[in-house]
Amino acid sequence: MAATAAASAAASLACRHDGHHSVFPSFSVHPPEPSRLFLSKALPKPYPFLCDNYPIAASSHRCMLPLTPHAALVDPSHAFLSADEDKPRDECGVVGIIGDPDAAQLCSLALHALQHRGQEGAGIVSSDGSSLHSATGLGLVSEVFSDPGTLAPLVGEASIGHVRYSTAGAASSLANVQPFVAGYRFGKLAVAHNGNLVNYRNLRSALESKGSIFNSSSDTEVILHLIATSSSRPLLARIVEACEALEGAYSLVFLTANKLFAVRDPHGFRPLVMGRRRPTGAIVFASETCALDLINAAFVREVNPGEVVVVDSRDMSITSLCLMPSKSRKACVFEHVYFALPNSVVFGHPVHSSRYSFGAALARESPAPSADIVIPVPDSGFFAALGFAEASGLPFRQGLIRSHYVGRTFIEPDKEGRNLAVKLKLAPVRGILEGKSVVVVDDSIVRGTTSSKIVQLIKTAGGAREVHMRIASPPIVGSCYYGVDTPSSEELISNRMDVEGVRQEIGCESLAFLSLESLRGVFADEAHMFCDACFTRDYPVPPRNQEIEQLVEV
Ligand code: SF4
Repeated sequence: MAATAAASAAASLACRHDGHHSVFPSFSVHPPEPSRLFLSKALPKPYPFLCDNYPIAASSHRCMLPLTPHAALVDPSHAFLSADEDKPRDECGVVGIIGDPDAAQLCSLALHALQHRGQEGAGIVSSDGSSLHSATGLGLVSEVFSDPGTLAPLVGEASIGHVRYSTAGAASSLANVQPFVAGYRFGKLAVAHNGNLVNYRNLRSALESKGSIFNSSSDTEVILHLIATSSSRPLLARIVEACEALEGAYSLVFLTANKLFAVRDPHGFRPLVMGRRRPTGAIVFASETCALDLINAAFVREVNPGEVVVVDSRDMSITSLCLMPSKSRKACVFEHVYFALPNSVVFGHPVHSSRYSFGAALARESPAPSADIVIPVPDSGFFAALGFAEASGLPFRQGLIRSHYVGRTFIEPDKEGRNLAVKLKLAPVRGILEGKSVVVVDDSIVRGTTSSKIVQLIKTAGGAREVHMRIASPPIVGSCYYGVDTPSSEELISNRMDVEGVRQEIGCESLAFLSLESLRGVFADEAHMFCDACFTRDYPVPPRNQEIEQLVEV
């Protein structure tokens, strides 16, 4: 009996791929008993309750969104990929749109704007009011959705989408490309996730011991199993119950036949914003505001940490609920250092402005008075270099040209491939660099392999006399457990050696990192609301998956 239930549950959770597309007919699965397997505490009653940090009408639990347009901060020269094999990689970007007849097409455009957050796979699930329709594929958004015939079956006025980076060993697995779709007792549910669960292995192990069978190696699938096996009703209560079992980082969008849910973890590690599209009034959720800008949606506000926002397509009503008592806010500061596009506003701060301030602070605390010019490592070092140049009074020059046309197939993960990738992506401008003492501003150093190649390029091919590296963030000494793919701590060069050791390794005349105090100073009174654990190893949520891994290995 238990085996039958488990097999049925597995069948319901599997995406039924019909070539490139998946259609999900109605069939329901009864969860195995007992269904409340993983929760130690009951949901507060009466349910739902309100987020106390968002002003909505307490009597109805509904709100009309205030329209608060923001200025689009578009810089076309920095509007494309910032992929670098020696950078941490944000693993995902998510989009949700409801109330627009072109929902799937708009979703593909918004995903294109978020392409820098994930390039290994992309997918969209739409709802026509009764059924969900899915298309997923490996590669860039432009590759997955290049054929108009791919988008055509994604009918309906609501959709969610996802771009992803792979985790180790799963690069070519279509099974890991989101959104995932699952059947549960009362219908179909799709989910797209940005973030990483630190208790994923514990949850998966507990679910498997009760008969759950997993189709992917993604932590997101755990969320679907938790929802499917919950005994709570309605679906909102199931989602809340599932999320209360999660630890770590999650910005989620869920789609059913007629509702879109947007959820952010109580610490708010990863960004998630809400907008309203002109002129249709469609509600849009996205990882970054650059996605709103591209589809003509005005920024409304962030989804608050610990908040669930529900939009019902039948009357476009919006409900805001509190997932659980709010915890201390810990927004990822690395979004401002590197991940987010400079034309985005993330956690309430324009990214280009943060980066400019990092560079200016770096110039004040670690000047290079003998230098002739300041150049950025494009693209992510651009605004920090501008800030450094203006604060130090040195001329800003474009001494490195970045190619945006390097095919992804050129980039191999081994050491030789990484060296080749740097040469293919960055070309020195000899006329600017020759004979000069050059300040080179980059956003961060991870393994140090790229930095050493850049110094080599500037000196040999560029003819520079001296290279002074200035890094617009503190040394990275810890891995991230909240949705960013960083190398192991043994591979982080600043975890293995001090600043002088790093300088010698990358071969420059001088090297300085932005101090932690100056990084925090840019956010002033809000500094305590940012996670900076990769610079401090002060993890807001303990990385429990690693403890489990070690136990298993022993
Ligand atoms: Fe961001 Fe670093 Fe914190 Fe990860 S550890 S969430 S990359 S600041």
